[in-house]
Amino acid sequence: MLYQRSSALFAAAEQVIPGGVNSPVRAFKGVGGTPIFVERAKGAYLYDVDGNRLIDYINSWGPMILGHAYEPVVDAVISKAKLGTSFGMPTEIETQIASLALSMIPNADKIRFVNSGTEACMSAIRLARGFTGRDKIIKFAGCYHGHSDSFLIQAGSGASTFGTPNSPGVTQGTAKDTLLAPYNNLDAVRALFEANPNEIAAIIVEPVAGNMGCVPPLPGYLEGLRAICTQHHALLIFDEVMTGFRLAAGGVQELYNINADITCFGKVIGGGLPVGAFAARNEIMNFLAPVGPVYQAGTLSGNPLAMAAGLAMLTAINNDKDLFKRLDEKTAYLEAGIKNVLDKNELTYTINRVGSMISVHFAEEAVIDFATAKAGDNETFKKFFHGLLQEGVYIAPSAYETWFITDALTYEDLDFTIAAIARVVKTL
Ligand SMILES: *Cc1c(COP(=O)(O)O)cnc(C)c1O
Repeated sequence: MLYQRSSALFAAAEQVIPGGVNSPVRAFKGVGGTPIFVERAKGAYLYDVDGNRLIDYINSWGPMILGHAYEPVVDAVISKAKLGTSFGMPTEIETQIASLALSMIPNADKIRFVNSGTEACMSAIRLARGFTGRDKIIKFAGCYHGHSDSFLIQAGSGASTFGTPNSPGVTQGTAKDTLLAPYNNLDAVRALFEANPNEIAAIIVEPVAGNMGCVPPLPGYLEGLRAICTQHHALLIFDEVMTGFRLAAGGVQELYNINADITCFGKVIGGGLPVGAFAARNEIMNFLAPVGPVYQAGTLSGNPLAMAAGLAMLTAINNDKDLFKRLDEKTAYLEAGIKNVLDKNELTYTINRVGSMISVHFAEEAVIDFATAKAGDNETFKKFFHGLLQEGVYIAPSAYETWFITDALTYEDLDFTIAAIARVVKTL
């Protein structure tokens, strides 16, 4: 497959946009080469500017769980757009999507909508700090919670791909309030609480991590975090920007039956438009302005266009009782197929999977945290990525990313992919 026009468009973009992209991981720095420019997409397929068709395993980094240009979402957006796209005044659809979302999310009475997952996580920790009257937070190496200052400390995927785990521009003052622990390690968390008595407002965690590849919580890990937070009167924040409405209608809280105090959303909740949200019980949410003292706002927050897309998406998910089972089965089929071809070629690998999140690591040891994710063989991954691209299969351009399976994928698509992988692994 040729990607000439993409390369030309990228060269033009580089003249006017830093690195040619509006979000760094799109730039292919982790795998080399130049990014693919998309013309359109439908269902499980991307169509690029060179006329290639690619099977898409990224799906806009998660949101397109039902496939690209999903008609109920597109129709909802078109009809809303004709009525005006933003008023800076309340609209009824905000209440409709809030009610539906809260009927799906466990343990939450109220939800506030913002414009990105970054904003959701940033607002959630401000709320946690306001609520507890404490400054410090704990985050885990390899977990990504958006690009706000407090979180750009060993932040996984994008940040890791570029080797800038601590970004310049984040002040020492901010960094000192973010305590860091390895994922899946409860002792490290206990030690931080002992060293910082009555100072820790919250733990923020990706309850199934997806920004260092897919890294599931070890048995007892989330229960342990819950118990430690309760014991120390700190809040447990689940960053379900990736997992929310993807692993179950109620996200990881439902999947593993564990209650977080604040839950953050993004990606799927916007149906492909810029939407984030955070939700909690009344006692916490009532701390937010205008009811409470913690300020949080947004000119375009809850705009009718984004809410229409989100409402259509959540409605489709809520009405499809078999969706998560189907996604799990498709992804399990893909996993089995990949394992089969990798075994035949005697390659060293680890595959991690939870529901429709899956990642292939060319690593010897089990991948349970950032250190073990980083131990994977990046050179092999690069060849794997480019080989698949030549076969018309698009996976994330970084070894630290989850693949996001969409329900639009058919078993023929999966077989095609497995056959493509079989050809590619012979060249590794
Ligand atoms: C994508 C992501 C974010 C950031 O969301 P944006 O919409 O890109 O700002 C936050 N947390 C997690 C877990 C994510 O995967």
